This record gives sequence, C-alpha cells and structure tokens, in this order.
Amino acid sequence: MATSMNSRRIDPFKLADQKASIQRSLNLISLPRVVEVVGESESQVTVEMNFWRDDQYRCVIQGHLETRANVVCERCLNPVEQPIVSDFTLCVVSSDEAARDIPREYDPLILTEQLIDVADIVEDEILLALPMFSYHADADCDQGMIPRREDQQDEEADIQSSEQKPNPFSVLSTLKLKK
Ligand SMILES: [Zn+2]
Repeated sequence: MATSMNSRRIDPFKLADQKASIQRSLNLISLPRVVEVVGESESQVTVEMNFWRDDQYRCVIQGHLETRANVVCERCLNPVEQPIVSDFTLCVVSSDEAARDIPREYDPLILTEQLIDVADIVEDEILLALPMFSYHADADCDQGMIPRREDQQDEEADIQSSEQKPNPFSVLSTLKLKK
C-alpha cells in the first residue's frame, strides 16, 4: 500500500484504484464537531475503510467505525456512556449535482480537493450515528435522584457543621467541673 499507515489525509481515488483498506485510530477529543455535541472524552475511535471502484467506475468507500461517547440520559440528565457503531457506504463525488445521480445504496461524500482528512469522514459518521435519545439501563438510572441528592447534601452539610462546632454544653460542663 502506497499510503502511509498513519497519514490522516488520504486520496480516496488513488486508494480506490488500489482497492486499498486502511485502519485508523483517532482520539475523540481531536474531533471538534463531535466534542461540541458530546463533550470531551478519552475515547478512541477506530475506523476501517475499504476503497474500490464500482462497475460505473465510481469511487466507493465502505467503512466501519466504533467508539464510545458520553451523552445525556433523557430520564435523569446524567451522562451515560453510549457505544457508537456505524457502518457506512460512501460514494465520492465532486459536486452537489453529481451527488444527486448516485444510487440509493450510497451516501454522497462531496470532495472538492484531492485529499480528505479521515477525521472529517469520521466526524460526519459519528454525528449521524449518535442516538436521538439515550437512557441508562433501568438499574443504573438515577431517575428521581436529582431532588433526593439535594436533600442528602443538606443532611451531610448539617452533620458536618454540627461536628465542626464545639459543643457548647461540653465546654460548660468542663468549666463546672473545674470549679
Ligand atoms: Zn439515567
């Protein structure tokens, strides 16, 4: 394979001519459009892409990516780690017009330069694959916990403050004993 294993900028046409496959591992944090939606995370994104020409000589990218992201649980509003898996089949075209002519089984990837950053493809696909709504499993969900947690914090604060204050009665009793 001519392309360096680590380069993120790829020439999909050349890779399709070579029937090449590539694998990449990216840090989720390096994908600003994804971070904007799901927040920062230590997750890795692994992506595999296979390139070929179809019988119409179209440049096709078939890909698979996996990662995990923290999204908001719609029930308790706490973060929930969500596995994100996406399988995609892209047809590389050079214009919106060309995008309209591709068969339905492909999604268009409009490319105006010769090279594309793998991260751009990965960002698009993660954003498309993000679930509209996410929930914890019932046992893990803090449903109704938000008001209860405030109560707990108040109780803890009360306990702490009464522990920290010297007990006035014990001081008095000591003084009395000394007399
Ligand atoms: Zn929840």
